[in-house]
Amino acid sequence: MRIGLIDFDSKIPNLSLMKLSAFYKARGCKVTLNNFSPSQVDRVFCSVIFTRNRRSADLLRGVYGERISFGGTGYDVAARLPEEIESMRPDYDLYSQEFIYSRINRGIGKKETKLAKAQTLIDAGIGRLSTGCPRSCAFCCIPTKEPEFRRVGEVADILNPRSNVLVLLDNNLLALPESLDILRELRERKLTVDIAQGIDMRLMTDELARELASIRHLRSLHFAWDLMESEATVLSGLSVLTKRIKSWRLMCFVLTGFNTSFDEDEYRVRKLINKGVDPFVMVHDSSSDVKLKHYQRYINARIYKACDRFEDYLPWQSVRCQRGSGSLFEGNT
Ligand code: SF4
Repeated sequence: MRIGLIDFDSKIPNLSLMKLSAFYKARGCKVTLNNFSPSQVDRVFCSVIFTRNRRSADLLRGVYGERISFGGTGYDVAARLPEEIESMRPDYDLYSQEFIYSRINRGIGKKETKLAKAQTLIDAGIGRLSTGCPRSCAFCCIPTKEPEFRRVGEVADILNPRSNVLVLLDNNLLALPESLDILRELRERKLTVDIAQGIDMRLMTDELARELASIRHLRSLHFAWDLMESEATVLSGLSVLTKRIKSWRLMCFVLTGFNTSFDEDEYRVRKLINKGVDPFVMVHDSSSDVKLKHYQRYINARIYKACDRFEDYLPWQSVRCQRGSGSLFEGNT
């Protein structure tokens, strides 16, 4: 059988597609990623990560008809791989450097740097040690998608012999009772680690901070401050961690457009900047707030470093002028 895999929008190698590839290759099938025509495949699996892409992915039904199946958080949060596929070791030969480069080649940055990053990603081990999360944040799909928080694997299971880089996709690694042992193992194996979904700062202890500081991280260590009510626990965890790791090595996701006002968004962002942490604004899917979209760019592109006040940020000023009166748009409109 000829299997076509479509990675619709991932920016790193897609774990589910790598497992599907391994499963079908083990059964003697020919597996092709993205680059195939309808006449070259018998079955097609398409993964969609971002909800905003679901409608355009659906157009592929007109091309492949009954032969195509969809999965991925952006298409169906309840979709799961059958256990026999989920338990497969990923096919680390599925992705090429060129493919990942084409996905990350956005914005500024040298081509050589991006090519090197793409190579690092295809050589990395990718996987998870746990599924689910013990928390149930109202804005998050994980409690629906993976209702059970449990350990599902070992570090050794997901290493890629091509490098000592490991991308961990756990939703809440620090919430595992054995998280300290896992961090120790990562250190002892001398791995360079990307805790891709970030760390839960509310769970920080001095022991965890010490182990996190002793590990080589592939990029900045990130965490989230999503809700105003988390202020005390997030900031307390941050003060523990920054005794061990410099604040400029940290990045914090700031959820906006869910249940906070613009003033509360600005408050969290400024607090993080004052503590030397890089803020990264996320706008909740349900929000179509134009002001937040501009604020997101103003912060994430670090324009705030050159332009102190958001109200002085020209693209936002011009929106206000076009609408005729700035005073009408002070809130989350
Ligand atoms: S802690 Fe993170 S992964 Fe867990 S439910 Fe909340 S947002 Fe989702």
